[in-house]
Amino acid sequence: MKRLNLNLNLTAIIVLIAVGVLLPVMLATAAGIVALVIADDAGGIVIGVLVVSFAVTAGGSALITVVLTGRKARLARRQADFVANVSHEFRTPLSAIRLYAQTLESGRLDDNPEETAKCVSTILRETEWLDVMIDQVLTWRASARDMLNLQMQTSPVADAVTHAVERFRSMSPPDELTLTAAVDTRLDVVHDGRALGAVVLNLLTNAAKYTGPVKHITVRARDEGESVVIEVEDNGIGLTPSEARHIFKPFYRVPRSDGSDSGGVGLGLAIAHHVVGRHDGSLTVESEKGRGATFIVRLPVAGGELV
Ligand code: ADP
Repeated sequence: MKRLNLNLNLTAIIVLIAVGVLLPVMLATAAGIVALVIADDAGGIVIGVLVVSFAVTAGGSALITVVLTGRKARLARRQADFVANVSHEFRTPLSAIRLYAQTLESGRLDDNPEETAKCVSTILRETEWLDVMIDQVLTWRASARDMLNLQMQTSPVADAVTHAVERFRSMSPPDELTLTAAVDTRLDVVHDGRALGAVVLNLLTNAAKYTGPVKHITVRARDEGESVVIEVEDNGIGLTPSEARHIFKPFYRVPRSDGSDSGGVGLGLAIAHHVVGRHDGSLTVESEKGRGATFIVRLPVAGGELV
């Protein structure tokens, strides 16, 4: 309903400007040109020039108004979508937590320690997801205001990557995927371990989200000349070249042809891109539609040339 109102308002403003401003502007321009053509003295020429200049200024202002109004409406729409998506994303783990907590409270599992343990680990897993999402929203807020406070240290990134892999394993239901990790990097990188870990965790959760029922994910970290390279590869739905060009933009989400939604607010990769950029590194993707994707983080070695 809100979106309908925004669209209607925008259309109304554009029609109003077209009829109320652009039409008179065109008439005035035509009149000015005619005045210039038929002018036979300096006074006529001055009037013609004034009329044409006035018309061009009014037309330009109207055009700028249309562009700015369109931008504002699009921003308001994206913000409304964002709030709706975030609320939805939070509700899903909260519902699961409530359900499992109620099951435990009912006492139905009192004699079944195995099921009780499963319930508890699901609650812990969902809590972890909530934590990650809250972190993501806060990081976005900070990075959008250019106030992301990174705690840089100089050391190999192996710990950050391994920690992200372990956290991801603890958040993923067992038996749902195979995750291979080959972390072999020893060179020092100036980095914020927590922020970099969040980047890797985001790439891992995406790899799991955008993959079919048989999920194979590989994480690699290695030294490569003056850079340290971290790769997250999946066997998922992949991306077309045009989708790949947009995925690092805030709020962008590839529309699913079957209308399904695997959850998310379209901020993870934008944040990851920003964070890697703050490390003087690059985040890129190599992919083919239907054949999986490999996200590549490239970071400069401390004291080496920039990547
Ligand atoms: P979110 O996952 O919350 O939608 P992201 O910023 O993390 O937001 O990702 C943006 C979009 O990029 C996703 O909506 C998805 O369409 C696409 N995407 C991200 N990772 C992958 C991947 N590993 N494989 C295919 N598509 C991906």
